[in-house]
Amino acid sequence: MPENKEKTQAALMKEKLFMNRKNGCRKISSEELKKADEFCEEYKNFLDHAKVEREAVGYALDAAKIAGFTEYDPSRTYRSGDKVYVNNRGKAVMLAVIGKKGTHDGVRLGIAHIDSPRLDLKPNPLYESNDLALFKTHYYGGIKKYQWPTVPLALHGIAALKDGSVIDIQIGEDDSDPCFCVTDLLPHLAVEQMSQVMTKAFNGEHLNVLVGSRPFNEDEESESVKINVLNILFEKYGIKEEDFLSADLQMVPAFKARDLGFDRSMIGAYGHDDKVCAYPALMAAIDTETPERTVITVLTDREEIGSDGNTGMKSTYLVDFIADLAEADGERTRHVMRKTTCLSADVNAAFDPTYASAFEAANSCFINNGAVITKYTGSGGKYSTSDAGAEYMASVRKILDDAGVLWQTGELGKVDGGGGGTIAKFVANLNADVVDLGVPVLSMHAPMEVVSKIDVYMTYRALYEFYNS
Ligand code: MN
Ligand code: MN
Repeated sequence: MPENKEKTQAALMKEKLFMNRKNGCRKISSEELKKADEFCEEYKNFLDHAKVEREAVGYALDAAKIAGFTEYDPSRTYRSGDKVYVNNRGKAVMLAVIGKKGTHDGVRLGIAHIDSPRLDLKPNPLYESNDLALFKTHYYGGIKKYQWPTVPLALHGIAALKDGSVIDIQIGEDDSDPCFCVTDLLPHLAVEQMSQVMTKAFNGEHLNVLVGSRPFNEDEESESVKINVLNILFEKYGIKEEDFLSADLQMVPAFKARDLGFDRSMIGAYGHDDKVCAYPALMAAIDTETPERTVITVLTDREEIGSDGNTGMKSTYLVDFIADLAEADGERTRHVMRKTTCLSADVNAAFDPTYASAFEAANSCFINNGAVITKYTGSGGKYSTSDAGAEYMASVRKILDDAGVLWQTGELGKVDGGGGGTIAKFVANLNADVVDLGVPVLSMHAPMEVVSKIDVYMTYRALYEFYNS
């Protein structure tokens, strides 16, 4: 092969006009690669300690308080550089860094969600059947139900008692803890099950969690396996059967986040969607000192079930907080909202060569190519999406390119292949500019999801540069 060969005219034109679609690993320096790997070490710890939204709020508040955030007090006056937080019912949290211009030119929003698909216990969950004790569950969020049997599960959540006390419950995470699971039928006897369509073969009422098998004692009392389970719960937590009625209890995969691949380039874990954006957003908030405009990071709840509820993004809690900040600055909220810009920090589906036909490669996002900007989500003819305007896309492109952030764009699968949404449209409905930016994920919504370390770090960088632009 000849050396130092002059580039052809076509090659030069390609360089000038084409997008650079090289694998992201080849575009970033070895120092930056090292930073990405380091950033993800604590991210894995976050994943292990923030599997459900209440735990994520607890982690975020601990980290924010260490970084100097104090509880927001509407009667106080805040100055540039002040850091405040608002805890919404222990299930969502807002972190604000007051900017030099306050709210006068709008605020910068970064919003990620901290709820993930899982199995919630029904209000009356515990029953005994044929000498086994089981929990009835009601799945939360979009799951492929067949993925959840035979996966080790842990119980997380709280029980609130009539005396006002709240009991934290967690069993299955410590190596010495027992775990739980949904059972499945052996292949030998699954002739009928295997001939059914997937949605029929495994439905929501099959998602019963096995929690015990030994009777309380030798008395000839019925339901003695259930008695035994309740007795163990009473001795450990002081709760009785009726206390399940006022509890938020969830079954989530019991395994820990782990490096994935011989090269350790990826992380396999439960709940990347959307902790993989929540953690970078939290770190970007903590690392932001004195931004131009006030920066608000929201770790919100309920996204996986459509953002309804007082801790979800259809609630007024965010705009109420912005109104408080605006009033303190002598601004009208509607004028602030019109100038407000937002990165809706959420994941997108990474191109999966095993399921290539679900994607349109030229408009898909890929593992290792950086943070993914998703101009629109939705389904069908762009239903249920806000579709970011070209001008706003251009301003975000500029921020990321000027700072050397590795990023890509992605559409959610091929046209009419299905669809989904994020909180972007709810923020857009408040009359702000918003676009989705986050991490490409393989096996999204499965008990174990996969992301690339580079993409996690670049999402942190993107949010940080956006906050400080
Ligand atoms: Mn999500
Ligand atoms: Mn999701």
